[in-house]
Amino acid sequence: GSAGEEAKDELTRLAEGHLVQPWPVSGSIGAEARGRLEAGEGIYVTDAAGRRLIDGPAGMWCVNAGHRRKELADVMAAQAMELSYNSPWYTTNAPSAILSKRLADHAPQGVDHVFYTTGGSSAVETALRFMQFANNVKGRGEKKLIVSRQGGYHGSTYLSASLNGRPRDHDWMDSASDQVIKLACPNPFRRPDGVGAAEFCDYLVAEFRNVIETAGAERIGAFIAEPVMASGGVIVPPDGYLFRMRELCREHDILFIADEVVTAFGRLGHVFASQDVFGLDPDMITFAKGVTSGYFPLGGVMIAGRLLEELRRSNHSEAMFAHGLTYSSHPIGCAVALKNLDILEGGLLEHARAVSSHFQSRLKALEDLPLVGEVRGMGLMACIECVADRVSNNPLTLDLEVGKRIDGHCQELGLLVRPLINMCVMSPPLTITQAQIDDMADILRRGI
Ligand code: PLP
Repeated sequence: GSAGEEAKDELTRLAEGHLVQPWPVSGSIGAEARGRLEAGEGIYVTDAAGRRLIDGPAGMWCVNAGHRRKELADVMAAQAMELSYNSPWYTTNAPSAILSKRLADHAPQGVDHVFYTTGGSSAVETALRFMQFANNVKGRGEKKLIVSRQGGYHGSTYLSASLNGRPRDHDWMDSASDQVIKLACPNPFRRPDGVGAAEFCDYLVAEFRNVIETAGAERIGAFIAEPVMASGGVIVPPDGYLFRMRELCREHDILFIADEVVTAFGRLGHVFASQDVFGLDPDMITFAKGVTSGYFPLGGVMIAGRLLEELRRSNHSEAMFAHGLTYSSHPIGCAVALKNLDILEGGLLEHARAVSSHFQSRLKALEDLPLVGEVRGMGLMACIECVADRVSNNPLTLDLEVGKRIDGHCQELGLLVRPLINMCVMSPPLTITQAQIDDMADILRRGI
């Protein structure tokens, strides 16, 4: 009714008047009315106009178990009534202890400790500060440069953001660029001129080896990589790349941090993808998002126990890792993560693995559209990249970004898309069925 519509308009006015949204441009900062969602159920969300939309990006790659799961809501309420909060400085709680053991059981052998944070950025920040601290304690305070990649995304805190390498990430922002070295993006679709597909992996590994020789292994503390780059456009690296980069790190005592903020908790069909998908054994694994299916802000870093043992045995038993968050090990976050893990282990991982080939092949078929240069992906994450033409494969540029335009058309047809300049990223809730994948692909075809 009109009273309801007036109330909704009032909400828009409140947001425009008082809300500063993430990633704004200065021309509309603090004065934006982004489309409001009112409700969610399963793979669907409902917008303020009452339209039901498939949640194509699962929020931000995070609503893995789907919206409105009563068992997740119930466990949060129960934990809030049992113990809503405790100081991680002075005390501990049951859910964080149990969750740590269950995560350790899924992580590669020996990666058996967890430091909890409030999300992905703080997880990455924690991993980096831990590397700095450990090298200070070991008496090698020079070994702190961080190697990341063009196209990567690791967060929005100062140091984690300094690692980012997507277009526009640094145009107007300060960063700790003196602490970071960026390697080429391992994107087989956009290789450097003159580098063939068969040589691409060698090229990328040689670049890293060169960087180590030039900067000096004694100055490089960590290499960080998303196993599959997510918001850089779902970049699946060439076969063997991750393993060979890992070997170079081991050779030069450089910590390998796998940033699994997106790829963990079922997105690639397993709790962690590092070992189970890529045969990797990183020194640290950062996670967030899907750990609670987005029901509570929680993240963390898995840390190889060996690294902690080295610190316990060092000559500096008084050296303090002066790092911790009020909400580290939050009991409600850990409790909902445990229930979420029950759901994943209780058939959802298996389901995700079972439907992913249908998902990939239905989206891949969109490559016959003239605007589409490439559809790529793995598991339940995929990217549709639009090009000006199929010969140059130059990114398609329009007055309104093509990703936003496709999102607009798809929303009319019942699908929410995550637009990324000339690309659209899809990462639906893992509960999606084959028939719902068909709906999604049909809408994308018409929308594009
Ligand atoms: N790392 C990766 C790979 C991400 O995709 C993201 C967020 O999208 C982050 C880190 C940062 O996580 P958060 O936004 O929870 O701080």
